[in-house]
Amino acid sequence: TQTAKILDGKALAAKIQKELAATITESQLKIGRPPGLAVLMVGDNPASAAYISNKERACAKVGIASFGKHFPTQTSQTELEDVIAELNQDEQVNGILVQLPLPKHLDAISLLHRIAPDKDADGLHPVNLGRLVRGEAGLRSCTPAGVIRLLEEYKIPLLGKQAVVVGRSILVGKPMALMLLEVDATVTIAHSRTQDLKTITQNADILIAAAGIPGLITAQMVKLGAVVVDVGINRITDSSGKSRLVGDIDFSTTAMVAEYITPVPGGIGPMTVAMLLQNTVSSYLQATSN
Ligand code: NDP
Repeated sequence: TQTAKILDGKALAAKIQKELAATITESQLKIGRPPGLAVLMVGDNPASAAYISNKERACAKVGIASFGKHFPTQTSQTELEDVIAELNQDEQVNGILVQLPLPKHLDAISLLHRIAPDKDADGLHPVNLGRLVRGEAGLRSCTPAGVIRLLEEYKIPLLGKQAVVVGRSILVGKPMALMLLEVDATVTIAHSRTQDLKTITQNADILIAAAGIPGLITAQMVKLGAVVVDVGINRITDSSGKSRLVGDIDFSTTAMVAEYITPVPGGIGPMTVAMLLQNTVSSYLQATSN
């Protein structure tokens, strides 16, 4: 039977959205306009389109204006650079992000470099990653920031704890490890070349799975009473032929040994969107504070 308590990212994201909506209503009276977020999409990746409509719906809910732009697949690098340069200058726009993946002829990294660091709502610009490494204030990457916020909401002690992050991508694993370090956890990073993953994960008080492999983490790999966070979002076809979303953690068995666990969906996914909105609002408040 499941004994683990659920870390309810969906509920916390709804609470954060309510708080942001209140902040926006109040600030808008003084500032005279709402915060704005520009999401750039190129081509017709259906998953990207779904993510973007999700983000835009969340923006509308809290009162952030969307300056979304959808470009045809053949759009050139220079065209996109010009759009980013314009958005950097536009004071109605407080956050800019480029939805990945991009068509092959485009260089995503070089576009990311052109976003003004203080409008980098995804927190992935090298300046913001550098600020994270240095322990300076800055826009933090949304997914790992969402993990930390969720753990803090449930008052889970992190100081001095053994934290294991499975995955080392620049999007999730690396910034996740740095953010855990920032709150004084002792951090181990595992990846596809790690030997004997099980021995490492078994030592984790806090286990974060961000590998993108369904069922990678099973109950046997988890310490009794651990806090287990599943960042993975994987679409699988189950035995009945139905398509559904699962994480990297085998939920039903792990929920019997963990003390806390995040569900998929309803865990870190909604927290990521909430942190994107929060980054946009904090850029807005920063830009309008003088
Ligand atoms: P990447 O594919 O970029 O990175 C996966 C990482 O996992 C790599 O570092 C890889 O190691 C490591 N890895 C792969 N296989 C293993 C293995 N067998 N054992 C240990 N480590 C392994 O993925 P992302 O970081 O972008 O995303 C990870 C997951 O999180 C995906 O399912 C993605 O959909 C999901 N995601 C969810 C978000 C949310 O909002 N909840 C947001 C972003 C992502 P190596 O470096 O050696 O290749």
